[in-house]
Amino acid sequence: MLEDSLAKLSTPLDPATLITEILKTLSVWGHENLKKFGWFVSDPYSYEWWGAFKDPFEISVSAILVQLSRWETVSRVISKLRENRLLNPHALAEAPTEEIIELIRGVGFRENKSRTLKEFSQIIVERGGWEAFISRDSTNVREDLLKIRGIGYETADTILLFAGNKLVLPISRLARRVLTRIGVELPNNYIEAQRILEENIPRKLSDYKLFHAALVTISKKYCRIKKPLCRECPLRHLCIYSKQQHR
Ligand code: SF4
Repeated sequence: MLEDSLAKLSTPLDPATLITEILKTLSVWGHENLKKFGWFVSDPYSYEWWGAFKDPFEISVSAILVQLSRWETVSRVISKLRENRLLNPHALAEAPTEEIIELIRGVGFRENKSRTLKEFSQIIVERGGWEAFISRDSTNVREDLLKIRGIGYETADTILLFAGNKLVLPISRLARRVLTRIGVELPNNYIEAQRILEENIPRKLSDYKLFHAALVTISKKYCRIKKPLCRECPLRHLCIYSKQQHR
């Protein structure tokens, strides 16, 4: 029904309407499909969205490790860190760097990431533990996160949203590719692009989590850099790029 009505439109949708239509589609598709791809659509405040984890520190560590690495590898590494009782800020802050490097074998940039994990853990300890660290205003938490070598905007905002339940929308390069191809024009500047999207998405944790999870998944699964699989993509009815390719 939605496809029919949108196909009849002769003029492009304005950005606000387009983002609303994208979110509507992602909501239906995400509830039916995200679990297959490792996201667990759940209570808005649940930590389970992120790989069915139950602990916000584990979510944060995995968000740092997954940069340029496969989720399957990160999942295995998280189990190893857990077995070695290192998945808490105090233990990780005090662990020898060489031990962390060895335990996270398999993920990319192990030396850099072990340093990032230690700095991240140290700052949490300095702030008085996880609850004291994360319960502050999101701007202050974000400032702390961005001081850590190896944590950029996307990772910081992913931690804020999925581990901190803060209303902050991460903008990943994967999501950006899908949105740009559909026809949502986003500036290169991260903060500006985030402002545009946040202004057009309801300020609800569930919508923020779903928007991020579904776009990242669709980008990896269908919206590949070369030869995107448009015919299978749930967003094809909205997508300018797909219409141009399949005229
Ligand atoms: S229809 Fe094709 S180009 Fe458009 S978002 Fe989906 S996979 Fe990407």
